[in-house]
Amino acid sequence: MAVNERNIKKEISQKLKDDVLRGALGRFGEAYPVSRAKAYENVEDIEALRDELKAMKVAAVADIEAIADRFEAEAARRGAKVFRAADGPALKKYLLDLCKDKGVKRVVKSKSMASEEIHLNHTLEEAGIHVKETDLGEWIIALAGHTPSHMVMPAIHLNRQQCAEYFSKELNEEIPPDIPFMVQTARKTLREEFLQADMGISGANFGIAENGAIGLVTNEGNARLVTTLPRVHVVIIGYEKLIPTVEDAIPILRSLPRSATAQLATSYVSMISGPTPTLVKQGGKWVEQDKELHIILFDNGRLKAAKDEKFKEIFQCVRCASCLNVCPVYQLVGGHVYGHIYAGGIGAILTAFFNSMGDFEKINELCIGCRKCTTVCPGRINIPGLIEELRVRGVKDHGLPFSLKLLFENVIANRRLFHSLLRTAAIGQKPVQSGRFIRHLPLFLAGMTEGRSLPAVADTPLRDRVRKITKKLASPAKKVAFFSGCNMDFVYPETGESVYKVLQDLNIAVVFPEEQSCCGKPVVGFGDVETTKRIAKRNIEAFEKAGVDYVIAACPSCTETLHVTYPEILADDPEWAERAKAFAAKVREFSQFVCGEYEQAGRLTKKPGATKVTFHDSCHMKRVLNIHEEPRKLLASTGACEVVEMKDCDKCCGMAGAFGIKYSELSAPILKQKIENIKDSGAQVVAVGCPACMMQIGGGLDKQAPDIKVRHVADILADQIKD
Ligand code: SF4
Ligand code: SF4
Repeated sequence: MAVNERNIKKEISQKLKDDVLRGALGRFGEAYPVSRAKAYENVEDIEALRDELKAMKVAAVADIEAIADRFEAEAARRGAKVFRAADGPALKKYLLDLCKDKGVKRVVKSKSMASEEIHLNHTLEEAGIHVKETDLGEWIIALAGHTPSHMVMPAIHLNRQQCAEYFSKELNEEIPPDIPFMVQTARKTLREEFLQADMGISGANFGIAENGAIGLVTNEGNARLVTTLPRVHVVIIGYEKLIPTVEDAIPILRSLPRSATAQLATSYVSMISGPTPTLVKQGGKWVEQDKELHIILFDNGRLKAAKDEKFKEIFQCVRCASCLNVCPVYQLVGGHVYGHIYAGGIGAILTAFFNSMGDFEKINELCIGCRKCTTVCPGRINIPGLIEELRVRGVKDHGLPFSLKLLFENVIANRRLFHSLLRTAAIGQKPVQSGRFIRHLPLFLAGMTEGRSLPAVADTPLRDRVRKITKKLASPAKKVAFFSGCNMDFVYPETGESVYKVLQDLNIAVVFPEEQSCCGKPVVGFGDVETTKRIAKRNIEAFEKAGVDYVIAACPSCTETLHVTYPEILADDPEWAERAKAFAAKVREFSQFVCGEYEQAGRLTKKPGATKVTFHDSCHMKRVLNIHEEPRKLLASTGACEVVEMKDCDKCCGMAGAFGIKYSELSAPILKQKIENIKDSGAQVVAVGCPACMMQIGGGLDKQAPDIKVRHVADILADQIKD
């Protein structure tokens, strides 16, 4: 479907109603992390293996032209014909000419996602050539007329009853939904195809420059038949699969099966270097002849990525699909919503290069930046980072939609106006407000309060309270400035007061630079770097004037933005680069900072407490700031809490900035699962370190488990301090 005709919201809602898909993805999502961990058990140092794979791929892409030249020369020396296809039309023309030249009427295929990228089967069929996919999953989806919904298990969205229906229709006989029977049936049917085929088309998991060989890592054995039985074998291999030496295949062979199918090794690993001899009938006799081997080195955007300082990283992908298996959004919607062949966050990036930026832009918001994928990717690809970079480039190329431009440039970047609007909202919300919550929104907004309440804007923001709560300390040990962020300033000012109380109890003087405003996270998240720079400069200026030892933030997303994003986006600004670095160096996340102070003061001893408290790790706190032990240590030291762990404590709560509102239909099931895990932990309180998570989880608990409360770590610590 043309990109402009797509209605992503509608597609999402259809997928959410697809019980077969939800069931399969849910079960697989549960089982995968356990199986993967088991498969990696005998790898002494998984991180070292990831480093090794990444280093090998980084070196390969840096030298890709030379590696491709060597691969071509070596493959040709062993009798293969190598063709470099710049794009889909070039590849198709070569292949159609070859089919014509060799009288090819029947083709069998295996393991080629690159061919799916350009809908090769369709082209061959239009030319009157009979094409059969022979990987079981690929064959099933071909029968169903679908595209793959997963990179390793293309038919994961279908159950056995549906598969049996497609089998029955294709074979014109009743096939029972019995998996072993269906596998046998497929084997029998496809065997005939192998024997009659004139050409086999395969992909490759790697191509080795030093000997011109290609490697295939498979489980079904059909790839061996595709590559050996027909008289012509065509390999379609993307440039990203090229590696310099045989030895370089080792980290791939160790990582790919473990990450993809949780196996120590796949059933078959085949290396093909040059055409193999085959038996042909001549004059009534069987004679041995070398078969033809054609290798198509496929570009289609790959070399452009290889030359791009940032996007050469996609060459580190070995297509294991681990990133999909742990992605909270993929687990809900499956692969088809991503639109092209490749699904999930990595799919969105590959789509931008192999298909179009327009297609990427349609689906880019399906990455919520939770960074779960970065913990499993064997090639260590920073998927959310690359998606953010593509958003930035999109904005540079054709700007923001008008409404967002207006919001970011004229409202969020204008502190006075932004804060006036928030104060107005505190009054305007009264008709729908119920205590500290908005529990029901009317009409088309109703979806936003389904399964969760929204927090009400506070009557008095923190900035209007600080004068009253600031203590004059006689000789403070340190002086810090508090960066509250919008949430703590206008929605949770009481938590801001708790931050003050905890810090002042440590004899630390706290100031609140009034010129501070939003950190800019929502703006940079949409790719608007220029407006974020304006915001960053104002905040830096405001905190420089405070002349403090540290800048404390009790929101991990704000901490990341101040500490990581500001120096990055201002790195090329001669006036601001050093100022941004100096500012960032002072930024500390609240719980980590307080944990250090408590440790020094000897206050970090574990004391048993009566209230069962479970801690929810925010995505940015755990996976960007690497802070997870400190809040737990703080909670355990209060004497009030018994810390209990919940299942998937570091899984996203579904808020993710604007995503939680815009895609409330996806946010709601993610939140529901989080609430179930909290309930199962037996906790009476959920502690958080992030006000956005507090908003989402607090709202969910209000509707789904009102006896359980959400509290920021600062609030729990403050409770233990006498006034
Ligand atoms: S960052 Fe999260 S949402 Fe984005 S692709 Fe990775 S796992 Fe999926
Ligand atoms: S991005 Fe990483 S995890 Fe995802 S398919 Fe590629 S190698 Fe596997």
